[in-house]
Amino acid sequence: MIDLDEFRWNAVITRDSSVAGTFVYGVTSTGVFCRSGCTSRRPLRRNVVFFTTTVEAVEAGFRACRRCRPDELAVHDPAVAAVVELCRRLENPKETINVSAFAADHGYSERHLRRRFSELIGVPIGAFTRIARDEHLRGSLRSRVTVTQAIVDAGYGSSRAFYEHGATRLGMAPRRYRDGGRGERIAFTSLETPIGFVVVAATARGVCAVRIGADELTLIDELRDEFPHATLVRDDDELVDVAGVLAGAVRGEADATRLPIDLEGTAFQMRVWDVLRDVPIGQTFTYAQLAEENGTPRAVRAVASACAANPAALVVPCHRIIRRDGTLGGYRWGLDVKEALLENERATAARVNS
Ligand SMILES: [Zn+2]
Repeated sequence: MIDLDEFRWNAVITRDSSVAGTFVYGVTSTGVFCRSGCTSRRPLRRNVVFFTTTVEAVEAGFRACRRCRPDELAVHDPAVAAVVELCRRLENPKETINVSAFAADHGYSERHLRRRFSELIGVPIGAFTRIARDEHLRGSLRSRVTVTQAIVDAGYGSSRAFYEHGATRLGMAPRRYRDGGRGERIAFTSLETPIGFVVVAATARGVCAVRIGADELTLIDELRDEFPHATLVRDDDELVDVAGVLAGAVRGEADATRLPIDLEGTAFQMRVWDVLRDVPIGQTFTYAQLAEENGTPRAVRAVASACAANPAALVVPCHRIIRRDGTLGGYRWGLDVKEALLENERATAARVNS
């Protein structure tokens, strides 16, 4: 479950034993797997792989840690046991599960079960189901089955249903994902604004990158690094409307979040970016509020990383996220840029409300 990695890693480094039972982690440098909360030395991130069950860890060649004994771990909290069972069933693309009936069978209200699920797993039930299906689909796409078969196997039923519900979540059409982005035409343009150059790139489906900086050529070079297999074409005419919206967004006047997007990211990142796009002009959220809105209140650090990884400035307005003490926090394109953007947006909001 690659897309839950941020949440799980956060649990490992904070030694959070309350989520023990919902996953285990293997350490490749030692060959040992542990449960969350193990007091052995913290592993390096690059040496850690996550498994949803101990069986998978054993099958992958890891042996159980003698200190935390993940294989003998009895889950005493019946709510945790119910959540773990629900995960197993949601992961199975062939199963359709009624959450309300499942909750009732286990003696919980649906609301309570959903809340416990989000707390323990890191994402809400609906998101987990989609992630599990996406993961299953990506796994199938990497092997040599046809795209159509992979889509059916992932439980989408038909390619039509997948294209309607799944493609935007993967950030690109499935065939393109399998080809590593090769063969894609990406148009770009740039505009000079009071905060520097803004370079925007878009596929036929939507904006795929927005970069801000003092040097136009550097920004364009970075774009080439980001899409090495795509055909990158400067096309000012094609993107004239997009550029107009972005110029307005820099002034704090236009809402760039309504532009269509075609972003690539993990399911977790995509979800955070979606939530970011709902933060209105003139408002700011703290990282904790954003984590709350995302349905993952304990994954503040992972949410902050997703903000930092945002490939499309302005369109995904990560500049509207600030620290709890009111200071700006970080911004990939420069703190002075962030400050200017927020000032312009506040001024607009004040005009609108007066
Ligand atoms: Zn251990």
